[in-house]
Amino acid sequence: MKKCVFCTGEAYPVWREGKYRAYRCRRCLTVSVQPLPEQTASLYDRDYFQRWYLSCADSRGQYLSGLFRSLKKYLPKPGRLLDVGCGTGIFLEVAARNGWQVLGEEISPFAVSWCRQHGFTIAEGPLTEVKLPENSFDLVTFWDVLAHVPEAPQYLAAAGKLLKSGGLILVKTPCHQVSLFRMARLFSFTGKSRALLHVPAQLHHFNSLSLARVLAGAGFKQVKIMEVKEHSGQVKFSSNQLSSYLFFQVKRLKDVLGLRKSLVGLGCKPGAAVTGNAQVNTDNRKK
Ligand SMILES: [Zn+2]
Repeated sequence: MKKCVFCTGEAYPVWREGKYRAYRCRRCLTVSVQPLPEQTASLYDRDYFQRWYLSCADSRGQYLSGLFRSLKKYLPKPGRLLDVGCGTGIFLEVAARNGWQVLGEEISPFAVSWCRQHGFTIAEGPLTEVKLPENSFDLVTFWDVLAHVPEAPQYLAAAGKLLKSGGLILVKTPCHQVSLFRMARLFSFTGKSRALLHVPAQLHHFNSLSLARVLAGAGFKQVKIMEVKEHSGQVKFSSNQLSSYLFFQVKRLKDVLGLRKSLVGLGCKPGAAVTGNAQVNTDNRKK
């Protein structure tokens, strides 16, 4: 039996392949992968960003722009925004266009220099180590980042410190139901079931209930969870790669089974009321 890294609840095994194991917490229902890597910055090099972000930057920017617009009614009025794990700055650009005063945080040396060359101000290093003033941000965003960070609970705590009272955290992350792990378990004999789960890049896996519990456990109030469509942009591969073929088959399978969904979680740092357009709804269990 393992301890959950978020809530210290007991976690039971749900999947294994090679050296990797996934455990689901009985209390908060989050699934975490073991072993967690000690450092991840070297994973996120030029090739990673070229393959997953720069090759589809326009469509990803449009996707984020639409999603951010749809969330506007829950957000504070534009003020200071910190984008955690900002990558090549696709969301920084969207937010700046929407009137936010943006700052990025990023561990990848390639992405940091890319963003700086494009005129953005970046705090380089893990969120737990960068020196930023506490109580100074109106909005802290994690776009498909929290699931990739070994020290995710510490990142949430750090985000809480950096937010002003009444400020908002926004976490977008894939929705991975326990059924996905059942399916991965069926395919683990192929040695390729990791692709279904994005392991080892994705270390923590949430569904709507577990994301709500993790945000509440980190001290955020008025937590609201929404299901949103995933970005459907095409990632470019060279033509004769086996991994390319497998990637698209996995994507198609997940589409067919309705497993390619994402979640957006919002939570408020306790304190004075946000001067936004709408209060964040506390009812996240109506489904
Ligand atoms: Zn837990």
